[in-house]
Amino acid sequence: MKIAILGAGFGGMAAAYDLARASHEVTLYEAADFVGGLASGFKEPGWDWSVEKFYHHWFASDRHMLGLIEELGLQEEVLFPRPYTVLLHKDRWYPFDSIPRALAFPGLGWGVNKVRFGLVGLYLRLTNNWRALEKVTADAWMRRWAGPKVYQKMWEPLLIGKFGPYYKDVNMAWMWARLKARTTRLGTYQGGFQAFADQFAEILRGMGVTILLQTPVTRLERDPERGAIHLETAAGPATCDRALVTLSPEVTARLVPSLPDDYLRGLRNLKSMGAVVMILSLKHQLSEQGYYWFNLPKDAGYPCLALVEHTNYVSPEHFGGDHIVYMGDYLDPGHEYFRLGQEELLEKFQPVLKRFNPLFEPGWVKKTWLFRTNYAQPVPLLNHSQNIPPIQTPVEGLYFASMSQVYPWDRGTNFAVEIGRRAARLMLEH
Ligand SMILES: Cc1cc2nc3c(=O)[nH]c(=O)nc-3n(C[C@H](O)[C@H](O)[C@H](O)COP(=O)(O)OP(=O)(O)OC[C@H]3O[C@@H](n4cnc5c(N)ncnc54)[C@H](O)[C@@H]3O)c2cc1C
Repeated sequence: MKIAILGAGFGGMAAAYDLARASHEVTLYEAADFVGGLASGFKEPGWDWSVEKFYHHWFASDRHMLGLIEELGLQEEVLFPRPYTVLLHKDRWYPFDSIPRALAFPGLGWGVNKVRFGLVGLYLRLTNNWRALEKVTADAWMRRWAGPKVYQKMWEPLLIGKFGPYYKDVNMAWMWARLKARTTRLGTYQGGFQAFADQFAEILRGMGVTILLQTPVTRLERDPERGAIHLETAAGPATCDRALVTLSPEVTARLVPSLPDDYLRGLRNLKSMGAVVMILSLKHQLSEQGYYWFNLPKDAGYPCLALVEHTNYVSPEHFGGDHIVYMGDYLDPGHEYFRLGQEELLEKFQPVLKRFNPLFEPGWVKKTWLFRTNYAQPVPLLNHSQNIPPIQTPVEGLYFASMSQVYPWDRGTNFAVEIGRRAARLMLEH
């Protein structure tokens, strides 16, 4: 079969791998001039490693991604350092990424709240019944079982940060999956995620996959007479027997207007958040305690959800001695951060850097980069499992696999690989 895959992110590339192994003729159409999609990175002169445009790491539980890397024979390139995630309490940061650290955290006191926090954490780790949890919002479940104090201190800021206006509507299965999958050690790849994406693309090319960069697909339609799928692309028209779309539901609905109304409505009803991330390269280390991930409570006056000092996770030696800091947030695409220029955003973000290191001065900033995406984080509402569009669409030969169908797990490159390979399996079976 001649197969077209739209999008050379990890979902599209994983599908291409399995389809090419089954001896099909695969073409990957990619709008950007690089592979890797949302997990791609960039490299400055003098850097040995690339930096992901949006902070990225793997969990030790990411078996689909780690399994694929092993199949490709690249497992020696994966590293699992032990960085520190911290939480604020009364103007001090406390490590909070393991059970002993959580028990030592003073923000919950020493009485009943800590016990409730521990019991809720234990229950969520042990249960597998996420279907019961998707019927209730995380807000209602956590208030009831963890109690208002634990919820307000621990979980409400996370939900507000990730889901903004939808935070009270997100279902509890999302929270369950998030707590279940997390590990203390976080993984990355020698050279950064872009190095892996490039090596994977080279392997695919070696298997005969054609990767067309800077070639967005603008329309996709089935030609019932010829029994083929017709694509309009920046490189001209093309046909194939089967197509897999790995783009956002919104873009997919635009590309394939001939999808039946029901399916289109399903795509359009899916909600998601965008993301805005500024990267700063600094002359000096910001967190001298060596903390990697700061969860920032907005009610304490922080202008974004997270500050991530990448070079407290991987060494600044890989970046010519530069210290790399991300400041990021998940936001509705209507938020002003999507309109402001880079300088204006820097003016909002920079003043808080002194709160992480009183010695910080604007002169420390060597360079900044700004990355934004409208499609960063799907929002799973109540009973989301019933609203997920099937991978096999009603248009014969057309398949759709996106972050919005990853569930109950939180989206990530691990699940992009899983859903990409699941889509390939379906395409081979039918
Ligand atoms: C802020 C942020 C932080 C994240 N952190 C992590 C993390 O720590 N760990 C982790 O594993 N995951 C993380 N993720 C999620 C991860 O990046 C995604 O789940 C994963 O990359 C999705 O892969 P995909 O192939 O489904 O989609 P994408 O990566 O979005 O790939 C889709 C591709 O389609 C291309 N495209 C778009 N339109 C067209 C068109 N018309 N024609 C052809 N091509 C087109 C795009 O350029 C893109 O390359 C994060 C994401 C964000 C935004």
